[in-house]
Amino acid sequence: MPKFFDDWRAQCDYYTDSHEEWADTVKKFVTKEIAPNIDQWEADELLPLELFKKAGDVGILGLGFPEEYGGISEGIDHFHNNVTGFELAAVGAGGLHAGLLVFTVGVGAILAIGSEALKKRVIPPVLAGEKLLSLAVTEPSGGSDVAALKTTAVKQGNKYIVNGSKTFITGGTRADFFVTAVRTGGPGPSGISLLLLEKGMKGLEHTKLQKMGWHCSDTATLYFDNVEVPEENLIGPEGGAFLGMMKNFNGERLGIANSSNAFSMVCLEEALEWAKMRETFGKPLVQHQVIRQKLAMMTQKIYSTQVWSDRCTMALQKGKAHGGEIALLKVHATQALEYCAREACQILGGASYIRGSKVERIYREVRANAIPGGSEEIMLDLAAKQFGYLG
Ligand SMILES: Cc1cc2nc3c(=O)[nH]c(=O)nc-3n(C[C@H](O)[C@H](O)[C@H](O)COP(=O)(O)OP(=O)(O)OC[C@H]3O[C@@H](n4cnc5c(N)ncnc54)[C@H](O)[C@@H]3O)c2cc1C
Repeated sequence: MPKFFDDWRAQCDYYTDSHEEWADTVKKFVTKEIAPNIDQWEADELLPLELFKKAGDVGILGLGFPEEYGGISEGIDHFHNNVTGFELAAVGAGGLHAGLLVFTVGVGAILAIGSEALKKRVIPPVLAGEKLLSLAVTEPSGGSDVAALKTTAVKQGNKYIVNGSKTFITGGTRADFFVTAVRTGGPGPSGISLLLLEKGMKGLEHTKLQKMGWHCSDTATLYFDNVEVPEENLIGPEGGAFLGMMKNFNGERLGIANSSNAFSMVCLEEALEWAKMRETFGKPLVQHQVIRQKLAMMTQKIYSTQVWSDRCTMALQKGKAHGGEIALLKVHATQALEYCAREACQILGGASYIRGSKVERIYREVRANAIPGGSEEIMLDLAAKQFGYLG
């Protein structure tokens, strides 16, 4: 599930037996541990902590990370990660991806530039689901222009003193670790560093935010009031924040594109099932030309997105990813999702507006794919620059 993706994999020979086995493992996990509970977790506005441990045990959290830090890397490629995203999407709740997999960019940054001591202390418990980690970059004054961020970390002896605030932080109400972007130097990107803040540090507070969608994933504003952070918690060199984060941008955006397309597939499947069952004017909806054309156009957008996504996955695997192309893919996939969620709502009619349907939830979550991880406007601009259009 989504069945569409099962069929897709069967048609593409670059999906191997290993991907099928992994799909089967995640499918079983979703069916047993997630599907029966997701509505309750949405109502609770939180994923249970046991879920992280169970996902860690199955390998969902460690997939693709180095074995020496508790990951699973042997025989694993980026298509395995795509499979995870697709199978988790079956329950039609984007907060599940966001809440459960939020650690990936932060851990990626520690892996890319962090000290060996930090890697050994932080990564294994996160991949085991024993500790939670959030990435804290966006500030109340803005998220797109990261280079202008204002939170300061001033060195005093062997500590940094952190002051400022972060907002829209996924997992921020109860994370144990925060990979936090702070200003240690002058203006611009070269003045920004990554610092590991930890739960319980004096002067670190949060308030919970309520969102349009992604309900089972908690989101917070963080406040830093003279938080003392040991210098060993500096991730990489001073001024190295972009170095640490940039390596993960392509993987993160490709992941969002993939899960967006998975949600488009869920919309198509839900709409098709309804269109076959629901009768109007004496025949099933699907027998009305306008309705079946909506289904055909949803399918068209899903195919184009998946072909492009698989192409970018292959490039990423070969170390040949083009950041501009992946940025455009993210825009394309989220616009396709916007279209599919809208049309699925039209096909379900009033039923789509009632809480409890996957389509209703996905429709509310469209913008949570289009804005974080690089918003549409910023992605288009980045692509134009990376394709060399500015000369
Ligand atoms: C559900 C959710 C979860 C999130 N999780 C995290 C998280 O875990 N960690 C984290 O650090 N952040 C997180 N974010 C924040 C997210 O990364 C930011 O919302 C995003 O980067 C945009 O920043 P902003 O909201 O401050 O918008 P702004 O930067 O204020 O921009 C506002 C709008 O203007 C557009 N815009 C900005 N500049 C330009 C320009 N030059 N030209 C044209 N248009 C422009 C943007 O595209 C945006 O649509 C999350 C956000 C959401 C909604």
